[in-house]
Amino acid sequence: MNIETERLRPDPAGFERAARILRDGGLVAFPTETVYGLGGDARNDLAVARIFEAKGRPRFNPLIVHVDGVYTARRLVDWPDEAEILASAFWPGPLTLVLPLKPGTGLSSLVTAELPTLAVRVPAHPVAQSLLEAFGGPVAAPSANPSGRISPTMAEHVAAGLSGRIEAILDGGPCGVGVESTILGLADEPTLLRPGGLPVEAIEAALGRVVARHHADDPLTAPGQMASHYAPGAPVRLNATSARAGEVLLGFGSVECDLNLSPAGDLVEAAANLFGHLYRLDAMGADGIAVSPIPDTGLGAAINDRLRRAAAPRG
Ligand code: AMP
Ligand code: MG
Repeated sequence: MNIETERLRPDPAGFERAARILRDGGLVAFPTETVYGLGGDARNDLAVARIFEAKGRPRFNPLIVHVDGVYTARRLVDWPDEAEILASAFWPGPLTLVLPLKPGTGLSSLVTAELPTLAVRVPAHPVAQSLLEAFGGPVAAPSANPSGRISPTMAEHVAAGLSGRIEAILDGGPCGVGVESTILGLADEPTLLRPGGLPVEAIEAALGRVVARHHADDPLTAPGQMASHYAPGAPVRLNATSARAGEVLLGFGSVECDLNLSPAGDLVEAAANLFGHLYRLDAMGADGIAVSPIPDTGLGAAINDRLRRAAAPRG
């Protein structure tokens, strides 16, 4: 994709333009107090799929959802006492809380990568706040850099990495903190999932207790490690040209099939449909799910990664 990337100023006209782009399913990079985020409407499957495409991410890992305040966060997730304590103490600010996702929020399943939890945060940067206010909805935003490169702390960094791949960059000058947000899991015992801009000691002082550190070899709550999360009930067979007896076919491109990820062969559309289509095919109760070949370029790499996990032998 090669689109013209608008450079927007952090003034009322810029915020309105950025909010309009988000409403239309486009992508806007914006400053937070940690690093620049690459934002898309967290309720729009296509917008979220385009975030992965623009970054060239080889995997669908869960994204942090940015909201304008505690009230909005509480509509999306369960809210234990610890969340209230930490939000009162540190929001807005560089703290992301991982909490059980409420049903019926309308969030794209690509945002949570099908986890039962959601990572949510209220950014403190005034430009981020003005954008969230103008948009009026949840914004999914990983760091605004191509996958594998360092996180951007200036609009120029974002432009160098993502120009031509996103609709706009909201220029708010350099970011203050320069490292990512601290991620704290609160779905079970409070657990530090990623150290970041807010020291864990400050969290422990507020909670009046020690916070568990996540160890690299613990079974992780992130989806890449959770093979079972990726497995539909029915066995999955990849690179199928047609369905065998008892199978349903998940198609791609112009093939005859039960559900098609993208009849036009568009990988962004396919990514947006992937999780929903797998659930629907699984619900049909077939003996197996056959899947058309999917090119391994662009978003195809993440789609194939997801499908290979679905097809892997069950442990
Ligand atoms: P980035 O995309 O660079 O902002 O990083 C987002 C981080 O949040 C990644 O390390 C994710 O694994 C983590 N994350 C997002 N959602 C969840 C979740 N529901 N549970 C655990 N970790 C999460
Ligand atoms: Mg990142």
